[in-house]
Amino acid sequence: MSRFDAIIIGGGVVGATAACALGEAGVRVALIEARAPLAPGLQSPDARVFAITRASERIFRSLGVWDVIQRQGAFAFSDMEVWDAAGEGVTHFDCAEIGEPCLGYIIEPRFIQAALWQQLQSLDTVSLVCPARFQGISVHDDRVDVTLEDSPPLNAELVIAADGSRSPVRNMLHMKTHRHDYRQSSLVALVKTSEPHRNTARQRFLPGGPLAFLPMADGWSSIVWTMPTENIERLLIADREVFHEELTAAFEYRLGTVVDSGEREAWPLQRLHAEHYVIPRVALIGDAAHAIHPLAGQGVNLGLLDAAALAEVITVARRRGRDPGSLAVLRRYERWRRGDNLLMMMAMDGINRVFSNPRSLLHRAGNRGLSLVNRSALARRQFMRHAMGLGGDLPVLATVSEEMPASD
Ligand SMILES: Cc1cc2nc3c(=O)[nH]c(=O)nc-3n(C[C@H](O)[C@H](O)[C@H](O)COP(=O)(O)OP(=O)(O)OC[C@H]3O[C@@H](n4cnc5c(N)ncnc54)[C@H](O)[C@@H]3O)c2cc1C
Repeated sequence: MSRFDAIIIGGGVVGATAACALGEAGVRVALIEARAPLAPGLQSPDARVFAITRASERIFRSLGVWDVIQRQGAFAFSDMEVWDAAGEGVTHFDCAEIGEPCLGYIIEPRFIQAALWQQLQSLDTVSLVCPARFQGISVHDDRVDVTLEDSPPLNAELVIAADGSRSPVRNMLHMKTHRHDYRQSSLVALVKTSEPHRNTARQRFLPGGPLAFLPMADGWSSIVWTMPTENIERLLIADREVFHEELTAAFEYRLGTVVDSGEREAWPLQRLHAEHYVIPRVALIGDAAHAIHPLAGQGVNLGLLDAAALAEVITVARRRGRDPGSLAVLRRYERWRRGDNLLMMMAMDGINRVFSNPRSLLHRAGNRGLSLVNRSALARRQFMRHAMGLGGDLPVLATVSEEMPASD
């Protein structure tokens, strides 16, 4: 049986980031991923993109992968506009107001994934076990044994589950979760509009859910159109012209008309939070620990902070000669991240509820809140810092400034 310091199950963006952070710190890691590695340049564009915060940019920069991601395609947006279908006024955020070059980036997941995998291949501390499917886990006092379909078993002092919201590891270990079905789904697609987006991310709150246009290169935008699940099928299969017309109208012609579009995909939405992120020798990170409403594009960003925080806790413990798989060490990670994630989850829940009930008092209060934020420079600045992921207790990897040279 091959022995490692840590086994990470799930090589999505969050698991691959954790592997990079640990591997670069000298921890011997096995990364298990079910899907075959991406062949650079061969995949079609992702219909769903990620809004990546400045904190996540810093993590990628610290790991030496940011330059590669940027070269492949990271679209910086400088402004954000948010408005409500039933209310008045637009709340506008501009990075110049806080002296920053941009508010964040819109990036296709395949670019992040490819950059991380390229970096992982160069680390002799990391073994990529891929494609390989996790099958079973048994936790012992001093180690964890992991079995895989069609690959030899492995063991380590610690297992990190980064295997997504359906986490087979979490389920197999009977780690409890709290769930809420939003009864909403998001339709995602790349679209081209007749008017330029001017590097601005825009979101309109509609009674059924928010509609976001995220700016991308060459005048394209990526849309995230959230609506009650029963309405989505019709739009998924609608003729392109019908889809373009309905989307244009739902967005109030803010970017003129929709003139072209790519593949459409639907993502059902749920809120999920693991009651505990850790048990002895096992930690959950990313969507395995929490799945949140995508209305502020924070899910993967929270997962990246989990990965950076856990890697920091583990490396500090090792340096001090402590057992990184012990509950006492892993609880430090849970205390660090669970509260912040819960806060973001509740905020997204509240915003979704407030703006999805157009006749309620809460809705009026929400509109008033939007206008107050628009009128207060202080509130705008605070909102922007939070949206950029720069609030709270950040892991060291997320504190490197963009002025510093990239480490690769
Ligand atoms: C419509 C929509 C829009 C979103 N937009 C944004 C956004 O703009 N910004 C943002 O920050 N977040 C966004 N999110 C959230 C984001 O998609 C998730 O938070 C993110 O993908 C979670 O990453 P992860 O690596 O934790 O999990 P996943 O991406 O689910 O990766 C899990 C990995 O584990 C692997 N795996 C699973 N089971 C096994 C097994 N048995 N054996 C081996 N490997 C296994 C899978 O193959 C996969 O690679 C959005 C979500 C939705 C639904």
